[in-house]
Amino acid sequence: MTEERPDTGTADRIVGSIVDSTGISRAKAFPAHMLPWFAEVGAGASPSWAVFCVDDHLAFTPSLSVTGDLRLRIDRDRLRCVGDGIRWAPAGLYDQDGTRSSLCTRGVLERVVDALAGIGVQARIGHEVEFTLVGGHGEWAAYGLGAVLGQDEFVADLLRAAAGAGLGIEQIHAEAGAQQFELSLSPADPVGSADDLVLARILIGRTARAHGMRASFSPVPVTGGSGNGAHVHVSFTRDGRPLLSGGDGPHGMTDAGGSVVAGILRALPDFGAVLTGSVLSHLRLRPGMWAGAWCCWGLENREAAVRLCALTRGNPHGAHLEVKPVDPSANPYLACAAILGAAQAGLVDALPVPAEVPVDPARLTDAERAALGVGLLPTGPDDRLTALASSRLAGDLFGPSLLEALLAVKSYEFDEYRARPPAELAERFRFAWTT
Ligand code: GLU
Ligand code: MG
Repeated sequence: MTEERPDTGTADRIVGSIVDSTGISRAKAFPAHMLPWFAEVGAGASPSWAVFCVDDHLAFTPSLSVTGDLRLRIDRDRLRCVGDGIRWAPAGLYDQDGTRSSLCTRGVLERVVDALAGIGVQARIGHEVEFTLVGGHGEWAAYGLGAVLGQDEFVADLLRAAAGAGLGIEQIHAEAGAQQFELSLSPADPVGSADDLVLARILIGRTARAHGMRASFSPVPVTGGSGNGAHVHVSFTRDGRPLLSGGDGPHGMTDAGGSVVAGILRALPDFGAVLTGSVLSHLRLRPGMWAGAWCCWGLENREAAVRLCALTRGNPHGAHLEVKPVDPSANPYLACAAILGAAQAGLVDALPVPAEVPVDPARLTDAERAALGVGLLPTGPDDRLTALASSRLAGDLFGPSLLEALLAVKSYEFDEYRARPPAELAERFRFAWTT
């Protein structure tokens, strides 16, 4: 699974973290000599960790409250040096008898990957990371040379930290918003790539702080500007053969590749509360934001929820889909579980490839969009909650306990904050996802 084993020798502190239903990482730290304990026995964590809200309120439910205990156990094969004597590893939640807890979001993704393997399909995922440096200054132009060189010390230190942690960063650029950056992580197996995304955010947060700045991973770091997305690039093979190239379908897709696209599009409206589930998310998920607000697909279409990146000489990783709506408030393990589970359902149902939308859907008439079956993804709080609560796929993938936790947390967040002015919310939660 782990291709590289970077040096983890000299660190004296260990931090293990999980990602909760709000996309926030929660952690325990240990001295290095406690590593075996941390990996095999685990640290105590109340089941209430599953109902922590974005503001640390606890959205207790009848079954998730003040009693019970979970164990937070790190995956020692994934230990990484993150600097200054700290080693980090992703953790899982276990019951006291040592079985994986149904509340473990990393475990959910592992199960979905296994189920996909059960029908002979492997997925690889590469995450895109967008963030905004708060406290950064200097010239800024989208994709600007001056912008990226103006933050060269930050960029250089981040790349050094990534090399030291064995994290593959493929490129970095200045994005459309002021002091907004994007970087691309190397593709990996789905669980490893979600771990890498958490690691990337740790390194970005630490490097920003070392330079007197703070990194915001909020979907809406400031109102009226460019949002932060967390696009998921995913490719599929069956028996070693790619599903999205080498076939007779549109742009070389196989029939199975078309079913994957159809399965993802069919399920996206169900998972709005998971992929774009913060009280800020609807401010980003809008036409014209390049956030994939339209539920459709198209070759290199950056306004479509699913952008096909076909196999070309310019795409050495091979054909893949970019699932654009996902934002950084999403738990990456659950987001990827939803995408892969949706793809599998599309394959099992042998869905035909939907009509392609080769233009900006905003430029079509209502009648043209209706003919193509294209609509906007749901962004209303009630729409997102109802869709998740009534989704059979979500129930199958997440199980009743985790679904109960997700709905409790999101209901609280929407009820508590939906009426507040966007600028107040952007400020309130600017650093909620910063590690
Ligand atoms: N920042 C945009 C978003 O919120 C994405 C821009 C891009 O295509 O990379 O998703
Ligand atoms: Mg971008």
